Amino acid sequence: MQITYATEAAPGYVNEDRAVCGDGWAVVLDGATAPDGVESGCIHDVTWLVNHLAAAITRCMLTTGDDLAGTLALAIAETCTAHAATCDLANPDSPSSTAAIIRAHGSELDYLVLGDSPVVVRTPGGDLRAISDDRLSHLPGGRPYSRELVRSLRNQPGGFWVASTDPEAAYQAVTGSVPFAEAGMFTDGVSRLVEIYGYDWEQVFAVMGASGPAELVSVVRSLEMSDPPGLGKKHDDATAVLMTGGRVEPVAGGRLRRPANWRTLIGM
Ligand SMILES: [Zn+2]
Repeated sequence: MQITYATEAAPGYVNEDRAVCGDGWAVVLDGATAPDGVESGCIHDVTWLVNHLAAAITRCMLTTGDDLAGTLALAIAETCTAHAATCDLANPDSPSSTAAIIRAHGSELDYLVLGDSPVVVRTPGGDLRAISDDRLSHLPGGRPYSRELVRSLRNQPGGFWVASTDPEAAYQAVTGSVPFAEAGMFTDGVSRLVEIYGYDWEQVFAVMGASGPAELVSVVRSLEMSDPPGLGKKHDDATAVLMTGGRVEPVAGGRLRRPANWRTLIGM
């Protein structure tokens, strides 16, 4: 089993993504940048939150052996404890983060996806399956979302869930277990390749498989310079993780498909 990753701040900003890897497991967090002028009730910034969540998830992964939802719930609870005395944890604008966790056992992969940090799994037969949590994209009421709408539906049934101040969010994540050959995890600073730039996941894996996650981030940055996205941030923190070493079906040729030259495949 091999896990490689890259994480890079948006140019000129502090990185609010986190990636942590261990023996057969990996975690990706994408802290939500606080909107200007919003009173969060918290004296900490989002980097404090993602650091505490990452540390607590890591401790749980190494010591408790809980399932992934239980692990994240415990990490959120521990993080709450770390600032309950100084901050208003009932404030719906308290700092928050996405969370994606994968853990391999044999040829099976457990996954957890909470918020906009997808996990993409290649099955032993060679197909790619994206696992995402897009509830924030489908809030009732339609766009543009008002600030009040988002506040009222955060960590609420029928709304969307984030890692912040309610451990229940962990149990509302998208979870499951699948046979796998390899898996990727991405923050939306990288998955914009698919969502904005029209790439497919096969192309994303072609770049990572041939040249690694750091090259994938470089592809994102060069596209952002040559063809800035029409909406949203020009650059975002960008994180990609690649886990290889699962099971590959002999009928698929015994090895994963890799193009000889990924630049040809993605037209660069
Ligand atoms: Zn706080």
